[in-house]
Amino acid sequence: MLFKPHIWLNSVLDIDKDFLEKHGIEALVLDLDNTLSMHGHQEPEKGVMRWLEQMRELGIKMTVVSNNTVKRVRPLAQKLGLQFCANGCKPLTFGISRAIRAMGADKRHTAVVGDQIFTDIVGGNLKGVTTVLVEPFHLEDTWTFRLKRRAESIFFKRDYSKLERKK
Ligand SMILES: [Mg+2]
Repeated sequence: MLFKPHIWLNSVLDIDKDFLEKHGIEALVLDLDNTLSMHGHQEPEKGVMRWLEQMRELGIKMTVVSNNTVKRVRPLAQKLGLQFCANGCKPLTFGISRAIRAMGADKRHTAVVGDQIFTDIVGGNLKGVTTVLVEPFHLEDTWTFRLKRRAESIFFKRDYSKLERKK
């Protein structure tokens, strides 16, 4: 299903060696805002730098694909030491495709990780890679975001009883 993530985690920090092996993941296409950092902030969230180190030690390829602008994405991606694709236009797939190509990754062993169903998850599902939904680090306190999150939780809750992809 287009709107359904294969896997639902609390945080990107929950991705570890066991998880990657279990799901056969060797490359990660990472969302930026609210997945690695608070929306609009130029500092990574607590624990993210250490997590990135662990991923690198495991040989995991990683690229940021964000719908945000180069001006927003570049400074933080550089701080994180990650290649990036800004103006990614998720849920369209060309940003994700470009990232997979640039990493030399195999789509069958790639996961898209992000906090938004309508962009990150739909984009990954359209591309045919594993999709991992994470809870945003911070809920943006605007009525539009509150409404969107509420709609997502109500609408998708029923579907989310068995999120682990059956292999
Ligand atoms: Mg996001």
